[in-house]
Amino acid sequence: MGDHILLFIFDNKSEADRVISSEPWSFDKHMVLFQHYNGEVPIRNLVFDKACFWVQLHDIPVKFMNIEVAKKLCDVIGEVCEPLDKADCDGGGFMRIRVSIDVNQPLCRGRVVMRKNGSQFWVAFKYERLPNLCYWCGCLTHSDKDCAIWINSKGRLSNDAKQFGPSLRAPPFFPSQRSVVSVPGIFSSSKANTRKPTEESSPETSTPDMETDGGNEYLM
Ligand SMILES: [Zn+2]
Repeated sequence: MGDHILLFIFDNKSEADRVISSEPWSFDKHMVLFQHYNGEVPIRNLVFDKACFWVQLHDIPVKFMNIEVAKKLCDVIGEVCEPLDKADCDGGGFMRIRVSIDVNQPLCRGRVVMRKNGSQFWVAFKYERLPNLCYWCGCLTHSDKDCAIWINSKGRLSNDAKQFGPSLRAPPFFPSQRSVVSVPGIFSSSKANTRKPTEESSPETSTPDMETDGGNEYLM
């Protein structure tokens, strides 16, 4: 269709939905963006700026390892794709959340989480099936050599000045290879069944307040 836009026609909607739900896609390691097209607007009016990724959240203290907290942490990087299946979100030693991300914005490397007692911890974000991206500015829309930061430097920048790197890439995730398995005891099961919705945590965007757990003890 011109200007790097291709039109794929499927026999039925479910096939098209399956392809889009399997994002992100890439060709020769470069990002390929998809969206539904109803044929009722000019092709040039389409805006390709979003892609869905599974984002892994590492280094969350065990006390806060749940979907609600993980979703709130991901609020700043894009729109969380609902519904989320609990089994898909449990990475074993980390959480996974599916998020629709604006590819024109730098990828978020993580968040500092403040606690009520003043202490803080860093949650690192890693992205599954990440295609090529710019390690100078963290955007998916161009490579290192095409970045304005690099071009404006006239080649004077060293690689040490890159603010982004391979640490953003999550290793492939296979549910059967989870390194941590959670087995609730009798007390935990009964407590989960009686917990009220108002007892869930409610972190804010900038400094989530997560001191809302019911006081479980954790042994390492
Ligand atoms: Zn760049």
